[in-house]
Amino acid sequence: MRYAEERERSAEVLRLALALMGRQAAGFNPCSYALWYEHCAGLNPGLSRTLEARLAANSPLTDDDVWRLYNEHIVTRDIQQYVGVRDELYRILKDTSANTVVAGERASAFDQSLARHAEQLATVEAPPAVRATVADLRSDTGKMRAMTVELEAKLTASTRKVNELTENLERAQGEALLDALTGLKNRRGFERAARGLSLARGGLAGTALMMVDIDHFKAVNDLHGHLLGDKVLRAVAHVLKSNIKGRDVAARLGGEEFAVLLPETSLSGAEVLGRQICALVAHGRIKRSDGQGTIGQVTLSIGVALAGEAESLEQLVERADRALYIAKRTGRNRVEVSPADSAPGA
Ligand code: GH3
Ligand code: MG
Ligand code: MG
Repeated sequence: MRYAEERERSAEVLRLALALMGRQAAGFNPCSYALWYEHCAGLNPGLSRTLEARLAANSPLTDDDVWRLYNEHIVTRDIQQYVGVRDELYRILKDTSANTVVAGERASAFDQSLARHAEQLATVEAPPAVRATVADLRSDTGKMRAMTVELEAKLTASTRKVNELTENLERAQGEALLDALTGLKNRRGFERAARGLSLARGGLAGTALMMVDIDHFKAVNDLHGHLLGDKVLRAVAHVLKSNIKGRDVAARLGGEEFAVLLPETSLSGAEVLGRQICALVAHGRIKRSDGQGTIGQVTLSIGVALAGEAESLEQLVERADRALYIAKRTGRNRVEVSPADSAPGA
């Protein structure tokens, strides 16, 4: 993005950013500066929330943290803006292409009508000047048709070019759809996958969603440090990944919150899987890297919901989130199911 701060204001931000960078473990590289600059200038609220949590926990950023946060909060945002422009361009090209087809069809209809008039004129004694004018008109509409055909071909070529650019961009974007820490999809990757699923099946009906949240994760960080916290996040991601299959989609939506989409899965099937995942995590033991044994039990709370007819992703997430909230309130380390009849269209 283009930064708009005046020289003096940017110098002020530089001083603030440098002071904060000095307290981190990461190097003073441009990615790191971009993070702290955007934070100090108040340009990136999502990033600021994460950085403030780290500052409050007195947990310095490592080079890996910087790279991950840079991808999550800066690269993704810039690509998102680019994708917005591309979508708009694509829409304009499609509209123009459709209008050209209509113009071509109208020219063709006009030409046919002129041909009919020319035939009628041939049967009567029409003055030569009238015949000549009709012939000229036909020749002009013929040229106009040829031009619209040419324009259509050019528009098709442009659309193909936009498609090509899109594919290149999506390839480059791959990383921006993934969560660098766990290798699962990130929130954007999750939303994109859900949209794809919904398009392929004419809706999400019959797809179950699990919302997963680590219990008392703040305490894990506070007791053992962020590095171990990150290890726990990777371990949970691993359990999720190894217990789903095929078209199932697992994602880390942010912090210690995960989501799993399960197409063609019943509510009870998703509940069983949720319990299995809870048990696997609760029985796992994560070693501390300093050789000081293992950390205490890590548990998950899970909310499950099954999409009803015409239910949107947002509605489904909201219902699964409500179930997750109940799982937290009623003891944690458990699965709560959103009642089937609470789905819109159920
Ligand atoms: P609850 O059982 O109610 O979910 O409690 P909780 O402590 O898990 O929830 P809370 O939302 O209070 O705290 C979440 C913590 O997750 C706070 C933050 O320090 C930590 N966190 C968020 N993102 C990361 C990350 O990328 N790495 C690490 N190590 N910790 C993170
Ligand atoms: Mg939690
Ligand atoms: Mg949480």
